[in-house]
Amino acid sequence: MKIRCPQCRWAPDGGPHWSCDRCRESFDTFATNAQCPGCGQNWLETQCPKCAHWALHEDWFDGGPPAWQELEEELLVGPAPKPAPAISRPGE
Ligand SMILES: [Zn+2]
Ligand SMILES: [Zn+2]
Repeated sequence: MKIRCPQCRWAPDGGPHWSCDRCRESFDTFATNAQCPGCGQNWLETQCPKCAHWALHEDWFDGGPPAWQELEEELLVGPAPKPAPAISRPGE
């Protein structure tokens, strides 16, 4: 799964680009799951260091839900149902 800015598509490079408004701690919000390692504050929204756009943290994750979730859904539902066989087959 890719992480990128929903606005400018900048991808985080693992650097501590975010700083906490409360305790001034610098951290990589994608490594800590949007939680400040200094004071434990959870940040619902993440600002892009490049274009300064604010977006919900989850909106940064490209490609929808995590892969394991998709896998579980597939196991639960199974493959797409096949169309029912036609009773009368024109042309046969
Ligand atoms: Zn951006
Ligand atoms: Zn903090």
